Amino acid sequence: MAKTFDVGIESLVSDGTRAPAEHQPVGRQGASVGLLPLPLRAARGAALGDERLGGDVGVAGIAAGKSFFLETFGCQMNDHDSEKVAGVLQGRGYRAVDSPAQADLVLYNTCSIREKAAQKVFARLGDWKTLADGKIIGVLGCLAQQEGEEIFERAPWVSLVCGSASYRKLPELIEQLESGGRRVTGLDLDTDETFETEITRRDNLLRAYITIIEGCDYACSYCVVPHTRGPERSRASDAVLAEARRLADAGYSEIQLLGQTVNSYRDPSPRGWKFVDLLRAVAAVPGIRRVRFTTSHPNDFHRSIVEAIDEVPELCDHVHLPVQSGSTRVLREMLRTYTREEYLEKIEWIRAARRPISITSDVIVGFPGETEEDFAETLSLLDVARYDAIFSFKYSPRPNTSAMHLPDAIPEEEKSRRLAVLNERQRAIQIAANEKLVGQSYEVLVDGCHPARTQWGGRTSCNRLINFTSPRVNLLGEYVQVKITRAGPNSFAGEHVT
Ligand code: SAM
Ligand code: SF4
Repeated sequence: MAKTFDVGIESLVSDGTRAPAEHQPVGRQGASVGLLPLPLRAARGAALGDERLGGDVGVAGIAAGKSFFLETFGCQMNDHDSEKVAGVLQGRGYRAVDSPAQADLVLYNTCSIREKAAQKVFARLGDWKTLADGKIIGVLGCLAQQEGEEIFERAPWVSLVCGSASYRKLPELIEQLESGGRRVTGLDLDTDETFETEITRRDNLLRAYITIIEGCDYACSYCVVPHTRGPERSRASDAVLAEARRLADAGYSEIQLLGQTVNSYRDPSPRGWKFVDLLRAVAAVPGIRRVRFTTSHPNDFHRSIVEAIDEVPELCDHVHLPVQSGSTRVLREMLRTYTREEYLEKIEWIRAARRPISITSDVIVGFPGETEEDFAETLSLLDVARYDAIFSFKYSPRPNTSAMHLPDAIPEEEKSRRLAVLNERQRAIQIAANEKLVGQSYEVLVDGCHPARTQWGGRTSCNRLINFTSPRVNLLGEYVQVKITRAGPNSFAGEHVT
């Protein structure tokens, strides 16, 4: 599946890897900087089962012989939704192809978190104006939900429009298209179901995603997510654990639990687990060596999560805790439900842990009415929180959000200036912090290689990226000890300690 990385992020003060919009701090998906991406399918696919493989699953379904192309924009949740959509299609006999020109069915799984992301999708759709003949073109995800049937008006060659809250209907919608349906939509938001699939095509051989909660019940005034993804729905803990066990059996050792507000999780089954209970249970699945989770909402971030990370080595020592602004006044306007002081108290809990836990965040600059004083408070919060990385965004007004009509919009040039100042301050913090790590050794899961330079790359449990040399060959997928020899603002160089 194709992946478009450069949506949703104005600027990334992490490893410089372009990344999907939301929640993959410190470099998110993508290959190690300067390294070739792991040749995921070619490298080890032949030895693995179909869930793990990411290839065609050999189902002689109704659409046997037909092919699909699916491009994903935006966040990790979209990435994972696309893996499930691909599973649904392959279950019906569709074959994945790498180019839209070869495909019978062309799907875009979209993001609308910022205006630029939405524009990019319309540009893609425009490409089909005279070429769509005979193909089914579909728009999935946030933009589909946001624009609805308007998409048919703007791009009449589109046949399928389906928001993520209606993905459970996808098989039915695809069936209607296969039997000659001209235009089909899935736009309901009033659902209490989650998107469960029999087959999920896994595109990453090392890290597997599990969505544990969909939608969002917060109402941050700048954010389209509650409108595009619908109300919050948690998956039953049994289903989550069964998936984690299947993934471990298929050879995965790293799992990432996903949700827009992952830590708001509430088990709908009679067990009634809270997020931290599920976290501990997933970490206890035999074979699972690393558990990550993203994104945490500060309001639902409790001390018990820090205690769990301290006690359970399988829980990665990294927390992504978006602050958005350092000014309580702006936070109130954003409807974030916490003050600067309440947020910083949570940072103190994390800093007081026995394990050094890396912390990353999201920051928005130029929210309507943000004064110089408000912005100065965001800068000073960076000094106090000392994040390992941040994702920084210029505020982008979005339809169906309450901030859309707020007065005192900040001019675009001023937003850009604030963004540059913010990133400069954060860069200095990262340089100083990273230099202190030279000489330390970390366990790294190797996920990239540059054969010409015999260099490897991988991530620590705290999600730091280290590129390193080794006398050994073929380390892909292995856990190895690496000593840091040099530090940059966004990544490290090191050597394999054998
Ligand atoms: N649920 C997460 C949370 O509560 O922090 C955030 C999810 S949001 C989809 C990902 C990030 O996009 C946010 O943390 C925010 O920084 C950024 N974002 C969302 N809406 C935005 C907007 N209208 N303009 C600029 N950035 C935005
Ligand atoms: Fe958007 Fe706020 Fe929900 Fe995060 S918590 S997805 S920022 S509405």
